[in-house]
Amino acid sequence: MIAELSRPSTLADLIAAERERFLAEHPRSVAMAKAASAVWRGGVPMHWMGDWACPSPIFAAQGVGAQVTDIDGQLYDDFCLGDTPSMFGHGEPSVAAAVADQARRGAGFMLPTASAVIVGKLLAERFGLPLWQAATTASDANRAAIRWARAVTRRPVVLVFDGCYHGMVEDAFVVLKDGQPSMKPGLLGQVQDLTATTRVVPFNDLAALEAALAPGDVAAVLAEPVMTNCGMILPEPGFHDALRRLTRETGTLLVIDETHTISTGPGGYTKAHGLEPDIFVLGKAVAGGVPAAIWGVTAALSARMDEAQARIGPGQSGIGTTLSGNALAMAAMRAMLSEVMTEAAYARMLAGAQRLVAGLEGVIEAHGLAWSVVHVGARVELVFADPPPRDAAAMRKILDQDAVEALHLWLINRGVLIAPFHNMMLVSPVTEDAAVDRLVAAVDAFAVAVGEVE
Ligand code: PMP
Repeated sequence: MIAELSRPSTLADLIAAERERFLAEHPRSVAMAKAASAVWRGGVPMHWMGDWACPSPIFAAQGVGAQVTDIDGQLYDDFCLGDTPSMFGHGEPSVAAAVADQARRGAGFMLPTASAVIVGKLLAERFGLPLWQAATTASDANRAAIRWARAVTRRPVVLVFDGCYHGMVEDAFVVLKDGQPSMKPGLLGQVQDLTATTRVVPFNDLAALEAALAPGDVAAVLAEPVMTNCGMILPEPGFHDALRRLTRETGTLLVIDETHTISTGPGGYTKAHGLEPDIFVLGKAVAGGVPAAIWGVTAALSARMDEAQARIGPGQSGIGTTLSGNALAMAAMRAMLSEVMTEAAYARMLAGAQRLVAGLEGVIEAHGLAWSVVHVGARVELVFADPPPRDAAAMRKILDQDAVEALHLWLINRGVLIAPFHNMMLVSPVTEDAAVDRLVAAVDAFAVAVGEVE
């Protein structure tokens, strides 16, 4: 332990003090980051791993349940859970056993295994769409969905909601800037003007949606049922009914990306709220951390896909990657769907999330803060505004990046991980009440500290 630092007088001082504390308490991670930077650009194998609020990446040693230990021996309550893949806990025994067993018997053959049949049946039963395909990431699944939607409808345009994120999907990298569609800042190496074929409207704005669909040139709307990648924005009452009605009326396909909203319940937001997507996409958690994603289609759309395929001949789709649907992914998904993503597991997650929501609301009330808490099942967001914004433009206005950085760093130094970029917390079925209480206590202490520097 290091001595308490002198009391900071500004938020910048508070961040500086917390950075110093982090560096002092993580000598091994800091040394390993230095070694890694000789061989990995930016010192990490994937640049997001360096995007946490701490001044040097944390090197993980192991995860057990909802806790992670780093190579300095620091223990964290993990509410990031790998940003969703490990949302049912690290080292989940059924998945670990299934993956180990399959790895010994062959990870991939470019042939289906018997588990594929079981996984397909489990997907159809759980999510209600009859026909499925596998991908390796949710990004890939969304890309496949868009390609097929364009092929089937023979329409060029995709519609997304401002502030969306659907993975490394170029078509979705369009935002509203001062009300005008524009390519996301920071989009590297993009040579096509994406605004020509992607239309973007604010979430919860049905008039804008109706106008954008009216020309009849939109192949598909790609949407998260709740926006979870620009803070969290809930759909207003009637939004999803109207979205489905308007897409149907204009012959537009509806792609629902449940990669994050699978936190709602066993059948995702779709099952819980009776949505009727033409294409359903799910990645990350579905294979418990083994890279895999799936996308399902209705029987009617499948028939139209057959027709589109017939128009161009066999094997021409240009969709798919070598590892997709391999034996390892199927073994992991089979374990997840049959043994892990159960009603009982969701009951525990949702109860834990309720505890977290109540705890955070208690902090807000106790300190009279203009903050709010939004959640979709087991996924909880602390928003630095009250009421929470209803679209991304409003969210951008209130998202105070310095306050976010300060909170994240504060939590890391007190043994809590939450997903980087905004204040999103996931509660797993193996998250203990005591861990939730520790997180709430840390946010409470942060509220006091921030109150003192403001
Ligand atoms: N869809 C949504 C809603 C996501 O939040 C993400 C990633 N955060 C993705 C798709 C892409 O997932 P992946 O990075 O695993 O491809």
